[in-house]
This record gives sequence, structure tokens and C-alpha cells, in this order.
Amino acid sequence: MRFFLRHFLVFLAFTVAGMLSAQQKQAESPGTPIFGFTPQHGFAEHELETTFQAIPSPEQAREWHRVFTAEPHPAASDRNNQLADFVADAWRKQGWEDVTLRRYDVLHSRPRSVFLEMTAPVSYIASLREDPYDADPDTKSPAVSSAYFGYSASGDVTADVVYAHSGNPEDYELLRKNGISVQGKIVLVRYSNPYSYRGFKALTAEREGAAALLIYSDPAEDGFTRGKVFPDGPWGPESHIQRGAITYDYIVPGDPTTPGWASVPGAKHITPEEARSLPKIPALPLSWHDAKPLLENMNGPQAPKDWQGALPITYRMTGAVKVHLKIDMDTSIQPYTVVEARIRGSELPDEWVLLGNHRDAWVFGGVDPSSGTASMMELTRAFGELKQRGIRPRRTVVVCSWDGEEYALTGSTEWGEQFSDELKQKLVAYLNVDESVAGAATTAGPEGLGFEPSAVASLGPMLVEASKDVRAPSGKSLYEAWRATSMRESKARVPPPDAELVETRIGSGSDHTVFLNHLGRPVINLGFGGDYGVYHSMYDDHYWMEHIGDPTFEYHIALTRIWGLVALRLANADLLPFDFGANGAALEQFLRELEQQNKIDRRLHLKKLHARVAQFEREGNLLRSAMVRALAQGEPSAEKLQRLNTQLFQVESNWLDPDGIPGRPWFQHLLYSSRYTYAHLEFPGLTEAVEKGDWKLAAQQASRLESAFAKNTQLLHSARTSWEKKHK
Ligand SMILES: [Zn+2]
Repeated sequence: MRFFLRHFLVFLAFTVAGMLSAQQKQAESPGTPIFGFTPQHGFAEHELETTFQAIPSPEQAREWHRVFTAEPHPAASDRNNQLADFVADAWRKQGWEDVTLRRYDVLHSRPRSVFLEMTAPVSYIASLREDPYDADPDTKSPAVSSAYFGYSASGDVTADVVYAHSGNPEDYELLRKNGISVQGKIVLVRYSNPYSYRGFKALTAEREGAAALLIYSDPAEDGFTRGKVFPDGPWGPESHIQRGAITYDYIVPGDPTTPGWASVPGAKHITPEEARSLPKIPALPLSWHDAKPLLENMNGPQAPKDWQGALPITYRMTGAVKVHLKIDMDTSIQPYTVVEARIRGSELPDEWVLLGNHRDAWVFGGVDPSSGTASMMELTRAFGELKQRGIRPRRTVVVCSWDGEEYALTGSTEWGEQFSDELKQKLVAYLNVDESVAGAATTAGPEGLGFEPSAVASLGPMLVEASKDVRAPSGKSLYEAWRATSMRESKARVPPPDAELVETRIGSGSDHTVFLNHLGRPVINLGFGGDYGVYHSMYDDHYWMEHIGDPTFEYHIALTRIWGLVALRLANADLLPFDFGANGAALEQFLRELEQQNKIDRRLHLKKLHARVAQFEREGNLLRSAMVRALAQGEPSAEKLQRLNTQLFQVESNWLDPDGIPGRPWFQHLLYSSRYTYAHLEFPGLTEAVEKGDWKLAAQQASRLESAFAKNTQLLHSARTSWEKKHK
């Protein structure tokens, strides 16, 4: 799972001349300075990176991918546990150190039985299964599960069906206006674009008093309306089912029965009834094959125009359709395993750069997550090989294979909670890859798949800089390819400026969450995206990737390269490459958006906060210039570098508020959180108070932000003055 903004692709006509001129720009030369490095170290870094980039191979990535996607491997399954051992063995063989299996005893959720039948006006028993295809023998595997949602409640409900469009609050509002109540009813909704996390639909249905929830995949979103369907194209066929969890992990992620502490063996658990993140009504995902009989047998009032989907029927809000839903879930404590390994740093072993990807999949996990896993295994192979050749990073590089991400971001959350004190002291940054290739190269057009990273704004510039030294599968530098696809997706006539290439708004939905939102450490998410309509279905498998997604596996390797380059630069830099000037500029933009999107009451004054952000940005710019100037002049003393690095490290930590944001104390970052839909949410405490019109709370939240900005501006200022004071 990962939060993704799906852009409806727009194909612009590109002239051949335009493509040629873009291709002329080649990767940077070895003499190009790297932010955070002295000239000599920058030169050595370029050499090292050239050596590194020659190691990953598409054919090896294909082989890793085949291993990880060979069988369904959801969390707590035998296969997923075997893969934990497989990863550990591979990392040992590759030369990684301290390979450790971390076990967590977690409240898990899996189906014993699911059943859905329409009892009126006609009888129809839903198959809740996906059709096999001869072209892809994996689709005939008896190990593939039926439809289910992780953490659905068990229940046996017979009730009338109401169609509630996307299942968002405004949809229920419209039903109410039409005199339709969902109290005690079974609500049928569709997955929607823009993406809204299914766990938000479940909470909304529960709050509205529904007895149960059905979510189906309408072809308008991810099926034939978008293009060719599996096995001929990337989109979802008639019977594809989007499984998933419906956990309320936007309130608190991880094991629902250990909120805020780690589920290590023997840990205290609260009861499921006490857990804030567990849904209370039964819910089930459906293919459009199983949803269509329900929709077409309704005879009530016609649904509004924008509620009509792509099926050749008239969508109605209610009438005549009654169903019987029976779900029996096994909710028992099961072991999850996080595999951890490191290459100890040669000079700064107590500073960590952490890489991670989850291992568990709803079914085969062709894209999600095994594309990321294949990219990761090539990265660890390459780093292991460098180590065998005697090349160690200066800082320690740690890698983790997470478990149970699909359920509640569970493995990374428990691991982060277990080692919270150490991580707050040592973690320089976390680099997450969930899906490395979530798109179809075969339908992407001449510019190729979009590179769609997100990062805290202080790391945006170093990511852009690194992209200039990686070659994209199209033959251009990744930087040029990125500019071209960004331009395509924003329908603009010119590429965006560098400062806008990186998405600096970070939602939830993947394993970066605990590190950013709970521990206050900087994060980057990396991945390619494009046409992809089989998310969390059986068809998200090796066949899809090999025939449709990334037949050459070149995108997997491009991702390995950029991931490795960013890791190496963070691990080897003389000065941590954080740009707080860029950070300040992005935060000012977030604040302006907050004001544009809301009517700010005159009782709330944000002038002071604007001034604080501007001061922070100014100090950030001055510090960056001072860093660049001094590094260009030669090598400052180790003590001096260490002192500034400690201060640079501290900035992100200073955004943490130990009280957390109102109502969600686990989320402690003052700048970043996610909405209940998983969508990004900046200045979360302030924004939510403004949206509620709670001006007193908004003023309190603004003042917390002002204090944090003042503290960090002071930190940047004193960092610069002591850095500039005396050389050496
Ligand atoms: Zn995932």
C-alpha cells in the first residue's frame, strides 16, 4: 500500500526536435560539486557512485522478483515467514552485518469465511473470487484468497442496500437531502479518484450508522474505461478485487492493541474493544462483476450524474435490493517478522541511514511491494559487493524488510516504537520504497513512466541533484526524464522549476509514517508510477510486471540506482545535505495554501507565523551558502563538521510536539501528518482547527508553530555563526 495521487494521463504531442534537445543534456561530470561534500570528497563520491551504478542488473532484478511473487505472501502466512528467512540468508551472503530477525506478536486479522448473497429481488450468490487466465498460470493458484478486508468486523447482516457513491461524508449528506437513511442498511460504495483510503470509507459508514459496507471497483476508476485490461493491458479486468485493510491507522498505526509501544513478545496488549483503530462493522471488497447485479436491480431514485459509473446501467441510490452478508474473521495474535541488517560505518557508526521496503503482499504483490523488494535486493547486493571490495560508507547503512505494512503499517511502526530513543539519536534519514514500479512502461509513451518521489522539503534539493547522475530507461538522465514526465502530467508547456519537482507534501499509507510523524526524522519515498489498475488484486503479479509493467526491468534498476545514490550521499557527506532555505520556502507555500483554501476568521492572526517562517527561510538560505562556501575552500576540521552536523540533525526533531496533534497524540510532527483519507496534511493541528472553525484552538496551534519556528531559526543562526567564526 502506498498513498498515490493518480493523475489521469494526458498525452501531449511531443515534437521530435523537442525530444532531441532534452536528450542533449547528459549526466553531470565527475568534477561537479555535490552539496555537502568538499571538492576532493565529492570527486571520490562520484567515482564510488559510478562503481556502484555498474553493479545492479535488470536480469537479477527479474529473478528476485520471480522469487518474491512466486506465491501469495500476506502477513503472518507461512510463505511470508519463509521469505523473511530467505531475505536474511541473502543479506548474509551479500556481506551485510548484524542480520537480525525481530519478532512482534501482533493482533492479526484474516478470514475464516466470507459469504455474500442477494436475496431480493432476485437471488445472486457473489463469487468473491477472481477469474484465472491461461496466459498466466499463477492466476490458477489455489493459495489465492477470496475477497476480504483486513480488520473487518465479523458479522451476519441481512439488510437493504444503499448506493453511496464514494462513501465520503458529502455523499451521505446528499442521500440525506434525498430523504434516504443508511441507518441499519448495507452501504455499497466505489473506490474513488481522487484516492480516498478505504479505512476512511469504513469509519464514515460506521459513523453514519450503516450495518455493513461493500466497496467495489468501478471500471471508470481502474478498469476498461481507462484502457486495455489484464492480461492484455495494465487495467483491472471484470473480476479483479481490491483487497486491503480498513484499519483506522490514521488515528494510530501499528498493532491496534499496542498503541504507542512495541508488540515485542510479552508486551501488554489492550483489548480489541479498547482499540481506537479497529473498525466495528463488517466490510467486504467486491469486483464489478459481483457489484453489477446489486446495482442493476435497484429501482429507486436515479443517482446524480457524477455518481454514475462506467457500467452500462443506470446507477440508483436505493430500492428493492436486499443482501445477506456473513463474515467470520480470525483475529488472533500472530508473529510478524522484521528483518534487519547493516553495514557499519567506517567513521560515524552511530549515525544511521535507514532503507526499507515491506515484504507482505495481499496476494502475489507484483507491484506492491515486490517491485520495491526486487529493487532493494539489487541495492543490498551492490552495497554488499562494495563492502567486499573494501568500500564502507562513512555512516552506518541499515536496511529493513518490514512485515504487516498492509495491515496497519505494523512492522515499521513496532520497530520504530521499539527503538525510538536510539532512532531519535542516530537516524539521519529514512528512505522508503514501497512500490518501485507502479505503472506500465508498455503504455507510458515516449517519455516513459513518471518518477514520483516525495521528500521532506529540506531533502528536496539533494534528491534533484542526485537524479542528474542516474540514467533513466529512456536514455536521458533521470532528472531530464523527471522534468519531462512532470510537465506531461501537469499539462504545462515548460518543465517545472527544480524546487517544484519533488512532492514535499507527504501523506501516510506507507512505512515512512513512524519515522516522520512519530519520531521526527526526515524521510524520502521513491517510486515510478503510471497506468496501474490491478492494485491489491490477484493480477498484481509477475506476469503483469514482466509483460506489461516493466518487461526489461530497467525501471527497477533505475530505482535501485537513485535509491543507492541518495543513501550513499547521506552516508558519506561531510555535512548533512539538508537545505533549510528550500524547506522554509515550501512551508511558506503550505501556509499560503491553507489561507487560500479556508476563510480565516479575523480572530486568527497568522501574520506573526508568516514572519517566523520567513526568518527561518532566511536563516536557512544563509546557512546553506555558508556551508557551500566553506566546503569549497577545503576541509574544515572534524570537530567543526561534527558540531554543525549535530545541529543540522536537530532541526527536524524540533518540529516534534510531545503532546501530538489534537485528538491524535501519536502524530507528533507539527508540520506533517495525514488526513483520514491518507492524503497529505500540512500544519495538521492548525489546519484541522481552521477547518472546524475552532479559532481558539487554531490560535493555540499557531502559537505552538511560532515557538517551533523561533527555536529552529535560533538554531540555524547559532549554527551558522559558530561555523563561520574560526576556520579549522
Ligand atoms: Zn505496499
